[in-house]
Amino acid sequence: MLAANLAALRQRIAQACAAAGREPHEVSLIAVTKFFPAADLGHLHALGVNDIGESRDQEASAKLDELTLSDPAARAGLRVHFVGQVQTNKAASIARYADVVHSVDRPRLVDALSKAAVRTERVVQVLLQVDLGEPAAAAGRGGVRPAGVSALAEQVASAPGLQLAGVMAVAPRDEDPHAAFQRLAAVHDQLLADHPQALIVSAGMSQDFPAAIACGATHLRVGTAILGSRPALR
Ligand SMILES: *Cc1c(COP(=O)(O)O)cnc(C)c1O
Repeated sequence: MLAANLAALRQRIAQACAAAGREPHEVSLIAVTKFFPAADLGHLHALGVNDIGESRDQEASAKLDELTLSDPAARAGLRVHFVGQVQTNKAASIARYADVVHSVDRPRLVDALSKAAVRTERVVQVLLQVDLGEPAAAAGRGGVRPAGVSALAEQVASAPGLQLAGVMAVAPRDEDPHAAFQRLAAVHDQLLADHPQALIVSAGMSQDFPAAIACGATHLRVGTAILGSRPALR
């Protein structure tokens, strides 16, 4: 089932790229494996997936330890993306295994990740999660408002152990994702002017990845379309 889902998804990604005048190699696929067992990470790696996404620290850390024992080559071959909201007290744990943290949205978290990365002698790539919702909506999905991106970017860029790598967003539920992802693209363009190495735009999930591709996403975070539906998150 994984192989068939993955093949179908890759075909849909290629179609969306063609429609947008982009090349499929410009778009990386992150398989979001939250709620699915460590064995699935191994299966996905065997199917050519090099990037996996997790959103809960305890689960991610336990699964990666398990994979290290059962399939060390797969573990070594996987780049780990932390895509969920990060509690500051989890930063130290996450910095031990995450290659990229997609959900950085506040100064205290930057400090905590930086200290932890230095302590573990790792370099962690950081994406700034941008809140694309209405200011009044208090969406609760995390993210820095577009007006706060520039200051937070400066902080990340000068933080030891961290590399500012781009932006991430989740489209608000109540809006056409094209419109939301276009705002993200505009935020990214501004960021690039000061930080030309911050090339990543992490946007697009199972339901809205074609819109994200049309708006310039470089990294898709897809769970359900690959692994099937998981128990309700919250
Ligand atoms: C779970 C999750 C995804 C994947 O969502 P699907 O709809 O299953 O593709 C992507 N991004 C984040 C931040 C997530 O938490």
